[in-house]
Amino acid sequence: MTDARTMLSFSIETETKKGVIEQPVPVPGPGEVLIKMSVVGICGSDIHYYRSAACGAFQIREAFTPGHEACGVVEALGDGVTGLEVGQLSAINPSRTCGECSHCLDGDNHLCTNNGFMGSASRFPHSQGMMKEYFLVKQGQCYPVPDETPVEQLACAEPFSVALHALQRAGNLFGKRVLIVGGGTIGQLAAIGAKLAGASFVALSDPTEHARTVAQQVGVDVSVDSLLPLDQKLDTLGLFDVCLEAAGAEPALADCIELLKRKGVIVQIGTLPIMQGRANFNAIMAKELDYRGSFRFHQEFRHAVELIVSGKVDLSPILSGSYPLSQASKAFDRAVEGGTATKLTVLAER
Ligand SMILES: [Zn+2]
Ligand SMILES: [Zn+2]
Repeated sequence: MTDARTMLSFSIETETKKGVIEQPVPVPGPGEVLIKMSVVGICGSDIHYYRSAACGAFQIREAFTPGHEACGVVEALGDGVTGLEVGQLSAINPSRTCGECSHCLDGDNHLCTNNGFMGSASRFPHSQGMMKEYFLVKQGQCYPVPDETPVEQLACAEPFSVALHALQRAGNLFGKRVLIVGGGTIGQLAAIGAKLAGASFVALSDPTEHARTVAQQVGVDVSVDSLLPLDQKLDTLGLFDVCLEAAGAEPALADCIELLKRKGVIVQIGTLPIMQGRANFNAIMAKELDYRGSFRFHQEFRHAVELIVSGKVDLSPILSGSYPLSQASKAFDRAVEGGTATKLTVLAER
């Protein structure tokens, strides 16, 4: 059902057919909440969809609105929704797990085999995203917060929870030496989280000057150029207890392996391309490395929202600029170009 109003929505149909379109404003059904978008962040996956109408194996097959990092204001409530009020600012958890598969029943909802994660073309029909003026969510996806919460940081609750989950996978970080390879949004947020978790030394490596500068602002102990020769990185940094692969690049994984102590822990957060075979995988065996994957997040979302709301973390250094929804393409073009931004956001303009 829709109401009589129309709204702006960013839509991608093909590599060339993309931009802001008008759509009817939806009406919430039972258990649903209509959200008026305040801010939506642009993520790496959104950039892939924008550039090539696909993200990895997920091809866009119908008009698709990206965006899974959003916050907004409760606009209307469907029947049976309790505990929320119209006008409340809310973080939105994009995860829509089934609650019925074996992983959900085990409490590992992030591994749900039937997740309708918003802003993903992994399923058909696609799970539409939140880069639009209004969108529907389930009641349980809303995390109401005080009005004065900074909305751009609140929109980072999703990537922050991805970073917190990866740190959770790494285990106890108290007193540990942690290296984050890759200074995009997730890498920077992981650096903030690692400090919070008591790591004694946090280093971040990235090939771009921009990322290394942001890393200094978020409080890493040292940031280095990842393109330096390995020997030089070893000399400067020493070995680590935990390495996070947050670049999604084979050389980054190779660095993680080389710069770990024996019995060290690798957590891979980045999505790697098909391997060319240069990383020394035998070192994983010989060093008894604990190689762990990390996929999305679960309870960390609430934790992330609480940290942002309480002001215990300041995510503002990663915010590199915002654009009105009608000019979202400009934000995407800048993101595609790369090198000048960490997190770009799109704002509602009315
Ligand atoms: Zn994201
Ligand atoms: Zn499930």
